[in-house]
Amino acid sequence: DRVITSDATQFDEPFEETLRPDTLSSYIGQNQIKENLSIFIQAAKLREESLDHVLLYGPPGLGKTTLAAVIANEMGVQIRMTSGPAIERPGDLAAIVSALEPGDVLFIDEIHRLNRAIEEVLYPAMEDFCLDIVVGKGPTAKSIRLDLPPFTLVGATTRAGSLSAPLRDRFGVLSRLEYYDEAALTEIVLRSSRLFQAEIDPRAASEIARRSRGTPRIANRLLKRVRDYAQVRGDGRITESLANEALELLQVDRRGLDHIDHKLVRAMAERFRGGPVGLDTLAASAGEESATIEEVYEPYLLQIGFIQRTPRGRVLTHLAYEHLGLPLPE
Ligand code: ADP
Repeated sequence: DRVITSDATQFDEPFEETLRPDTLSSYIGQNQIKENLSIFIQAAKLREESLDHVLLYGPPGLGKTTLAAVIANEMGVQIRMTSGPAIERPGDLAAIVSALEPGDVLFIDEIHRLNRAIEEVLYPAMEDFCLDIVVGKGPTAKSIRLDLPPFTLVGATTRAGSLSAPLRDRFGVLSRLEYYDEAALTEIVLRSSRLFQAEIDPRAASEIARRSRGTPRIANRLLKRVRDYAQVRGDGRITESLANEALELLQVDRRGLDHIDHKLVRAMAERFRGGPVGLDTLAASAGEESATIEEVYEPYLLQIGFIQRTPRGRVLTHLAYEHLGLPLPE
């Protein structure tokens, strides 16, 4: 139940919808991706063709789903959303793609979780806009080919490496979303405040941005909590001091670390003299699963340079010691 989790929680969904930008110009940051996409979109429109298939990859909460909807909106087409685990049988996929209108966007979230049988159906659909369907059983079974309207598949994944090579090769555009810098996140917080009709001091917006771990989803979630605090403890205006108080209460520090991050960093410093310490040893000592440390806790600490991975294990850097005010080991 971490407030700084980058995965969507059930509480995020209702307000996230209302905060989604719907055009490339209101989509903040990711400038390189936007510039490329805007050219591809214009070219496809000039040729009156569907846009090439697009693969968006990067950590959760950086705006992949949002960008898929922006692409559809900019192309002037409808979007149909589904996810890898939701498509269980080839027939499920066939039903979805055969209901598309020409040019539509089919968004498949967590596309690395599609099973092989479904990938097989997807290949000809992506490549030639057709479906090969087997009708009948046994010796009388035969394969028939169904034409599909041209469409754009937008796939999203947090793990591009888990995608099979044949699937990856069928995307014309591969875009890796990057963590947002403080300026972009501040802009996102200011934009969301306008949509919430909340008055906010720009310094409060930067403070929220700094603690959002480079992730718009976290920025919006923190903003929402800070807005609640300002309403109850103040007159609704989000001042810098109210923002700081609220964030302190949420136990999110100035770099966006919470008590779990602190616990992990402290364990490395105090029990292992800053490492190197093996992942399993660290996990056992912190009372966590190795996979949880590797997939959930560690990525942000690695990204901000508090932890380094070495062949002999994880090592704490001086940045982490300084941030937590811990004495450096000799
Ligand atoms: P992902 O699909 O990568 O997990 P989402 O597209 O669901 O992320 O984005 C999470 C939230 O962050 C959404 O509510 C969206 O409004 C906001 N968001 C993401 N990217 C941007 C952006 N570039 N500009 C403004 N808001 C954004």
